[in-house]
Amino acid sequence: MYRAPRGTSDILPKEQAHRRYIEQKVANICQLYGYERIDAPAFEDTQLFTRSVGEDTDIVEKQMYTFQDRSGSQITLRPEGTAPVCRAYLEHGLHNLPQPVKLYYIASIFRYERPQAGRYRQHYQFGYEAIGDADPALDAEVIDMAWQFFESLNLHHLSLQLNSIGCKICRPGYLTALKDYYANYTHDLCSDCKTRLKRNPLRLLDCKKPLCQQIANSAPKSIDYLCQQCDTHFNQLKRYLELLELPFTVNHCLVRGLDYYTRTVFEIQPEAEGAQSTLGGGGRYDDLIEELGGKPTPAIGFAAGIERIILNLKKQNIPVPALPKPQVFIAYVGNEAKDTAIKLTSTLRKNGIGIIEAAGSKSLKAQLRQANTLGVHHTVIIGDEEVKASTVILRDMTTAQQQTIPAAQLPGLLK
Ligand code: AMP
Repeated sequence: MYRAPRGTSDILPKEQAHRRYIEQKVANICQLYGYERIDAPAFEDTQLFTRSVGEDTDIVEKQMYTFQDRSGSQITLRPEGTAPVCRAYLEHGLHNLPQPVKLYYIASIFRYERPQAGRYRQHYQFGYEAIGDADPALDAEVIDMAWQFFESLNLHHLSLQLNSIGCKICRPGYLTALKDYYANYTHDLCSDCKTRLKRNPLRLLDCKKPLCQQIANSAPKSIDYLCQQCDTHFNQLKRYLELLELPFTVNHCLVRGLDYYTRTVFEIQPEAEGAQSTLGGGGRYDDLIEELGGKPTPAIGFAAGIERIILNLKKQNIPVPALPKPQVFIAYVGNEAKDTAIKLTSTLRKNGIGIIEAAGSKSLKAQLRQANTLGVHHTVIIGDEEVKASTVILRDMTTAQQQTIPAAQLPGLLK
């Protein structure tokens, strides 16, 4: 027997209501804030991700699904959604539009991870990007939109974590301070952090191992090393967030796992589990478009994992509306009745009435049982007598009451 590859899953019909509900909420919030949908390909040139996400990140080092296609091109299944959007922004000259350009996506994401609850090798993300403006008011809007999105889902007990990790001018000074501090703790660090110290010191701060976390808590803080512009930006952002009454916490250990971030970084986490099960995160990436070959173009974005959202909706017992489905079943006895049922079913569907037709030649009892299982409101029953008289029997499935009516009246009645 074949099985779905490890870390992936089939999304069966009974799982779809949650997804459609979330997608609807995504579309609503994006419309409200003026973001338009973009769909990029599921795979890109590998270089797009190595250059943007960063060679020394977990994603590029360990998690990318990379292969050579038949023409010898190096291809990677997208491990995140921002770089493809930036590539599309450049490729299609979107810098010629009024800035910032606001785009959103819902896309499958591929990462070779150790599968566990809330962590898969294929998952879906909803994300959005505002490209082309450095105003901290835009940071506030992007953060507000994420917060209001979760509010619109009725998800509560969330926390908003915020930090600024500076820019290419002030970050080198901070990294030096960080390395100096960690030099005293090299023996206490986990093996991953020993490597991070050499290759990507910022990531030392978000190691989840308890001892490393303890060390990180007393490490120098990036906000104490910001240059004048980054400091002003961060202060203005905090003021806007206060204006919007968003309850943020400045978290000195929040750095995010991708290299392209500058200045603002933020995450929305369930209060109880914290960073272990972050619902979504984002930040500024003011140098990325230039890094990919464009003009200097400041930008900011956010992405959230759909499966994590579903887990939290279920955990918080938040019901989602059921998907609409046919409320009428049609049963028949005999071949003539079957012909009539086929024609009548077609007429009803053309009238916009969803209907499920019995299949095969089951007994009437078995057909009614099936109608019951399907949970329809009404069953239309046709036998020889009804065919002759051009009538049908309409059965109310809740009360089991039946009435005979002219077949021609059925569409109007069911409507
Ligand atoms: P990231 O791009 O790592 O910041 O991820 C953005 C969001 O996607 C996270 O906050 C999670 O909600 C979700 N996410 C990331 N990786 C996974 C994964 N392997 N499986 C399921 N959801 C994920």
